[in-house]
Amino acid sequence: MLDSGVRAQFDLTEEQRQIAGLAAEIAQREIAPHIAQWDREHTFPRALYTKLDGAGIMGILVPEAYGGVGADYVSYSLAIEELARIDAGTAVTVSVHSMICSAILRLGNEAQKRQWLPELAGGDTIAGFALTEPDCGSDAAALRASAKRVDGGFLLNGRKQWCTNGSYAGVTMGMFRTGGAGAKGVSAFLVDNASPGITVEKVTEKLGIHTSNTCDLAFDDVFVPESALLGNEGDGFGSAMTALAGGRIGIAAQATGILAGCLDQSVAFAKYRVAFGRAIGAFEGVSFKIAQMAMDLDAARLLVYRAAGLADAEKPFVIEASKAKLFASTAARKHAAEALQIHGGYGYTTEFAIERFYRDAKITEIYEGTSEIQQIIIARSLLGKLD
Ligand SMILES: Cc1cc2nc3c(=O)[nH]c(=O)nc-3n(C[C@H](O)[C@H](O)[C@H](O)COP(=O)(O)OP(=O)(O)OC[C@H]3O[C@@H](n4cnc5c(N)ncnc54)[C@H](O)[C@@H]3O)c2cc1C
Repeated sequence: MLDSGVRAQFDLTEEQRQIAGLAAEIAQREIAPHIAQWDREHTFPRALYTKLDGAGIMGILVPEAYGGVGADYVSYSLAIEELARIDAGTAVTVSVHSMICSAILRLGNEAQKRQWLPELAGGDTIAGFALTEPDCGSDAAALRASAKRVDGGFLLNGRKQWCTNGSYAGVTMGMFRTGGAGAKGVSAFLVDNASPGITVEKVTEKLGIHTSNTCDLAFDDVFVPESALLGNEGDGFGSAMTALAGGRIGIAAQATGILAGCLDQSVAFAKYRVAFGRAIGAFEGVSFKIAQMAMDLDAARLLVYRAAGLADAEKPFVIEASKAKLFASTAARKHAAEALQIHGGYGYTTEFAIERFYRDAKITEIYEGTSEIQQIIIARSLLGKLD
């Protein structure tokens, strides 16, 4: 299946194909046999990430000089897609982790790179991202958690909500208010999660992505040294947006993987399931759904690979990442519902993976900027800010 459809026409390098193949193989071997149970029991498979690291996946975007593989964004997108084709929860764990690796590379100083990247690339430490708070998500510039200057560093206080990887993270990129109201008063920090005063307040139960850990973190007088400041004081909102732009390529790839998984399952089921004496795939009502799914999968891949290719070429990619995320997530949600319909009653049961894809697809339209926020970003690139 790897080189089916648009993949065959896309000009992938040998290394990119190899990484995609490796991720697909690991997903089949290490995730597929366990995923139904992990999903049912809401298991965060911590040991899996050490195995993924053996294949270089946890340090995929980290240069070799810092202990990673030094692969490009296209390879990374292919790996996320292959993981999500089996389990979207695993894919988002790796995606958020890689988003922070990438943010440290782009925004961190040499000491921060040396401090964090080797252990992040080694899979011993998982990274998290803490921007959202109980009272603000899309309007992130309204965040309230504070960082107050004290002797030698800052004291962090406040609540961060729905932190992916939060309970397991060794380092969190957290945004806190160091100045006045609005975006300019926000600074970004690389917070060691072992710091006294950080507690996991709640692990959130969710509709889907049950293998992904989502939790609320409380920061009560958490001391971080001056060296934890990522970028300049007051630049934290921009740093978060830079990180999220790259992260959206990962979520777009995750949605594309869900779509690919839905197509894999739907094709197999439509050939096998018989009704009225024929395989159901012989009915146009079923086969046309599969045709639409395949077309949207190709389109999602093209958009994801384009955004990733621009990131690799160090060209602007923010709008393209938003377009890829908006398209791929809409298509994943829509086609997961169609795939379930193709499976009939079986699709609604936990005997088939489709009900999980159906539950998992929805989140791709919400996190790392909702679909409405992606449309605002795209529209503003055309219209400017009119008010
Ligand atoms: C499973 C999960 C994992 C997450 N992981 C992380 C994480 O690791 N780190 C982190 O910081 N956050 C994380 N989040 C938070 C996520 O990014 C936010 O939920 C998301 O950005 C939306 O914010 P909100 O939920 O506060 O919705 P709100 O901002 O309150 O929006 C509610 C609705 O209003 C719409 N809306 C808001 N503003 C506008 C507007 N201007 N125009 C049109 N419509 C608008 C939104 O699109 C949405 O439909 C996670 C969330 C979940 C559920």
